[in-house]
Amino acid sequence: MIGTLYREAEAEHRVCLFCAKTAAEVATLIAGPDRYSFICDECVDTCARILKSQRGGPSPAE
Ligand SMILES: [Zn+2]
Repeated sequence: MIGTLYREAEAEHRVCLFCAKTAAEVATLIAGPDRYSFICDECVDTCARILKSQRGGPSPAE
């Protein structure tokens, strides 16, 4: 089916915008609202670490 082929082609082009890894190279790619922007789980981890260090470590939810 054309729909299936389209989905497979689309999946091949899913790349993390931060580290340029493809969907096959990471555990999870998270899509942005435009469905063409992605971030992988590894970059989310990196971002979380950066945010944590900027906030001076883990803090209770506000
Ligand atoms: Zn990434």
